[in-house]
Amino acid sequence: MSSTLYVHLSRIAKNLDAVDQRIGKGVKRMAVVKDEAYGHGLLPVAGYLKDKVEWFCTARLEEAVQLREHGIQNPILVFEIPPAGQEALFLKYDITASISDVSVFERLKPGTKAHLHFDTGMFRLGMLPDDVAAVLQNMKDFDLDYTGIYTHFANSDVEGHSRVLRQLEVFRSIRSQFPEQLLTHTANSGAIFYYHDKGVLFDAVRPGVCLYGYAPGPYDISDLEPVIEWRSKLVQVKKLQKGDLVGYGSRWEAPKEGWLGVIPVGYADGIFRNLSGEFAVEINGQLFQQVGTISMDYVMVYLKEQQFKPGESVTILKNGKLSAKKWAKIMGTIPYEITTAISPKIERVYV
Ligand SMILES: *Cc1c(COP(=O)(O)O)cnc(C)c1O
Repeated sequence: MSSTLYVHLSRIAKNLDAVDQRIGKGVKRMAVVKDEAYGHGLLPVAGYLKDKVEWFCTARLEEAVQLREHGIQNPILVFEIPPAGQEALFLKYDITASISDVSVFERLKPGTKAHLHFDTGMFRLGMLPDDVAAVLQNMKDFDLDYTGIYTHFANSDVEGHSRVLRQLEVFRSIRSQFPEQLLTHTANSGAIFYYHDKGVLFDAVRPGVCLYGYAPGPYDISDLEPVIEWRSKLVQVKKLQKGDLVGYGSRWEAPKEGWLGVIPVGYADGIFRNLSGEFAVEINGQLFQQVGTISMDYVMVYLKEQQFKPGESVTILKNGKLSAKKWAKIMGTIPYEITTAISPKIERVYV
């Protein structure tokens, strides 16, 4: 194994506590475990959370089926538009479908559980406010088990954004035209942390990235802690002379005599090539700069005057200074993209 991703499951529970503190009692938690639980591993994360949250949400039907086939009994909401030809699986596995398009009603099998998904201004999935009359008619015409109604915010990662409140207003006016008993939910991580006192909570919330320890926006949230620790080992350590040029393109020059460490992880493992020369790793409690162009299966680090031995443990990502948040900042992206890019071929160890 060239590297290992340690997933500290108990920290997910702590991050869930941080959610609970914002939402109070009585609001259900629909843990979002899409895309291998943001790279952390679908089955282990869901197995750990199954008695701690009421619901799970997945992006794809196949992820929900996988959960059922591995004994997860919580209600599960699938975000995607039901794939054509697979509608029967929702009923067979007791999985809740999202109706994000008016054409979906007639495709689902009678008795299928469904949540109505309205687009209130994000313009991704969801039915538009103008569809309300058609939706109400379809609810009469098609004998599905209508159990919920929801929307999704485009700007809740930013505090005090007027478009969140505008979407909420649109949602409220749609909501008022539907039966009282539908489970109502709008809030992702951003809405939970930045808008919990603005009326976004309703019956349930859909926390995703916060469970894995990252704030949804640019600012840190002190009671969230990243869950992963990515470790590898030095495979080679070599002497550098002043002026030696390291890696493809010879882009880094040794400023003086010293030592160079080679780590067997690269962009094929999820260390984006654009991070070349921009991040640090931890060895024996100290930070060392990554140098030279990141290659497919290797990166190099400048050890200065310290001659570590091959086999020495290297921490690539963890909480604090080595967080995925830091990489995201360097890359001009968000931690979601960093953790979901950690290659599935890397062994996950759950601690
Ligand atoms: C991904 C997703 C979430 C969770 O979002 P986070 O920002 O990770 O909390 C919630 N709802 C929907 C519809 C989503 O697609």
